[in-house]
Amino acid sequence: MPERIYNFSPGPATLPYEVLGQAAKDIVNFNDRGIGLIEMSHRSKDFIAVTDEAEALLRELLAIPANYKVLFLQGGASTQFAMVPMNLLAPGQTATYLNTGVWAKKAIKEAKLFGKVEVAYTSEETVFNHVPKESDYTVNPESQYLYLVSNNTIYGTQFHDFPATDTMLVSDMSSDILSRPVDVNRFGLIFAGAQKNMGPAGVTVVIVRDDLLDRAPATVPTMFRYKTHADAGSMFNTPPCFSIYCVGLVLKWLKKLGGVSAIEKINNDKAALLYDAIDATDFYRGHARKDSRSPMNIAFNLPTPELEAQFVKEAAAAGLDGLKGHRSVGGCRASIYNAFPREGVEKLVAFMKDFERKNS
Ligand SMILES: *Cc1c(COP(=O)(O)O)cnc(C)c1O
Repeated sequence: MPERIYNFSPGPATLPYEVLGQAAKDIVNFNDRGIGLIEMSHRSKDFIAVTDEAEALLRELLAIPANYKVLFLQGGASTQFAMVPMNLLAPGQTATYLNTGVWAKKAIKEAKLFGKVEVAYTSEETVFNHVPKESDYTVNPESQYLYLVSNNTIYGTQFHDFPATDTMLVSDMSSDILSRPVDVNRFGLIFAGAQKNMGPAGVTVVIVRDDLLDRAPATVPTMFRYKTHADAGSMFNTPPCFSIYCVGLVLKWLKKLGGVSAIEKINNDKAALLYDAIDATDFYRGHARKDSRSPMNIAFNLPTPELEAQFVKEAAAAGLDGLKGHRSVGGCRASIYNAFPREGVEKLVAFMKDFERKNS
């Protein structure tokens, strides 16, 4: 096998190596049962135990209160852009959105299909280089919820604090769930695609307060109602078995490491290494405003697009893969989620110094 590279990809993203090894074994022969994990019935005792364990670990790691349901759904985070307003907005009702990037914009577009949408803030004029402070916008008191993307994967910005408004919060945490503690009680609903910080693609976790399950108008189809999946323990139809199982393995790994408070320190330390390297010179420029910097995705530019292309290419040849920025921002982006090793960040920082010396 070739040497393992450092994978800075924004998602699907790097997973703990021990998780990959365990999954590879269990795909062929789960728990020495003589049957592969991905050929087992989702209604078998063994697989129900897998789902129950993944849910229990998630509840423990995020301190999810008992009055919240945990759902394992398909369709990606993007399906939640529609499912949220479908279930939480009756026709004529209003929701407030903060436009902090492409993922927020896509959610706004879907919400408009179901109710009135007020965009209380946008950072689009500055290529989404920051998230708003609470004093930068007002929320209509009629609003059913305030929607925000906790970490803006493409631009490398993050809400370091969540608004203290009385309006119920709904958040897309696809790219920073489990990277830091959050007070789930402040949210009506949290969702996250697994493929950034939790596991492989194919499953989306939804954490929803149980009093919201009965809100969906009668016209919402069965598969798009949160209640359908809550009542059936995410087994209304065949769930994404392999992805749920892998999420369970990642959660076990995270628990062993000390949980979200422990990983938060590790994440902040990794990010500081990289931001310090960016701040130490004018050759590299961080995209995000300092007060909004994300520890998960670090977007930066070099003096010219040509140098950026050369940087990405030479870095890949040195085993530092996936550093090309999103097409809407250009430049470079290092995604360093929970499972990304510190050693890889150190290697990148050394590469950056060397590249600057040779090219400035
Ligand atoms: C990647 C991403 C999405 C889209 O996820 P899919 O599972 O591909 O639909 C949505 N929101 C955020 C914040 C993301 O990072």
